[in-house]
Amino acid sequence: MARIVKKFGGTSVGDVARIQNVARVIKSEYDKGNQVAVVVSARSGVTNELIRRAKAINPNPEDREMDMLLVAGEQETIALTAMALHALGVDAFSMTGAMAGIKTDPYHTRARIVSMDCKRLIEHLENERVVIVAGFQGANESGQITTLGRGGSDLSAIALAKGIDADLCQIYTDVDGVYTADPRIVSKARKLPEISYEEMLELASLGTKVMQARSVEFSNKFNVPFEVRSSFNNNPGTIVKEEVSSMEDVVVRGVALDKNQAKVMITNIPDKPGSAARVFQGLSDANVIVDMIVQNIGRNGVANLTFTVPRDDIDRASKSVEAVLAELGGGEVELISDIAKLSVVGVGMRSHSGVAGELFSALGEAKTNIQLISTSEIKISVVINESESDEATRVVHSAFGLDKED
Ligand code: ASP
Ligand code: MG
Repeated sequence: MARIVKKFGGTSVGDVARIQNVARVIKSEYDKGNQVAVVVSARSGVTNELIRRAKAINPNPEDREMDMLLVAGEQETIALTAMALHALGVDAFSMTGAMAGIKTDPYHTRARIVSMDCKRLIEHLENERVVIVAGFQGANESGQITTLGRGGSDLSAIALAKGIDADLCQIYTDVDGVYTADPRIVSKARKLPEISYEEMLELASLGTKVMQARSVEFSNKFNVPFEVRSSFNNNPGTIVKEEVSSMEDVVVRGVALDKNQAKVMITNIPDKPGSAARVFQGLSDANVIVDMIVQNIGRNGVANLTFTVPRDDIDRASKSVEAVLAELGGGEVELISDIAKLSVVGVGMRSHSGVAGELFSALGEAKTNIQLISTSEIKISVVINESESDEATRVVHSAFGLDKED
């Protein structure tokens, strides 16, 4: 007998037929004699629709009321999934995040899980009852309902797997695993049988939106291995787990492309101590997350500073920078949205050299100009023109030997 957590995302429970399909997947696991705890998201689109309604009524809704509203999406699907299981003759029981023992800090709309108290849930499992838990939600110390940030059902599932000491955690989604690149862009992309937490984290935060990045951080921190697989077929998915030494044999595991970036260029900023600090302090006060940063050497008392921000934040970023430049008494801002960030990721980079050179020559062959570069231990990223980025991704994918054989 095994104890298994299965998480189904919004598209997997998108309508009645799909909920019935999910119930069949759960039943076949349960029929093997396994204990099954399930986490479900809201139907796809529901959370966005609730946010739209809230904003139509009040452009600045209170965070507490937002949470009260948004948990409704998951509460619908836990009840319907339990009913679908009942219709198949399976004993099932739905639980809100709070009932399931997910305890969070007090911060509404972006709460962090502080502890899991799964005693009651485990009792149900031991009484051969399937438990269906609402993802994305918990409760704080004073019993207020909180949510875990967008995409937070993944986090609920990983935390639950840890909380009930599950043997297996399966994330069912609309793709059947993690690929070497986005298959919609690179037709020769391959499904990876396994990948390390760190590689998954880089890919998750780099625009391969298979999973919420925070949930991968959590699984890394607490060593909770999981499988990403499709709810629409029975193919084996991708196992995400602790790094093992053989993973280093592959230098580049995957190529990620993030088109949700914009570039801010500041020219002729007064070159004196504290200028950069003022610019970035202003951005942080405006809640803008800065990614890649390049500053050139100052000349004639002025310098140039370039960095990237999420495209949605471009207005806030430029307002903040304009205000700081006015204070500093100089500098011009230019905003460029037609960019993309291409990254190669792999734990093998720790023990191999020459990856940057290979990447740059592949881009050279593709006649793609590199605007910015940044590196970490297991990743190299470049900013390039968005219009050339799909083709560049295909060329780089092939240059690192990732193409599947046909
Ligand atoms: N329903 C929530 C969202 O759309 C949580 C999730 O789907 O994981 O962000
Ligand atoms: Mg999701």
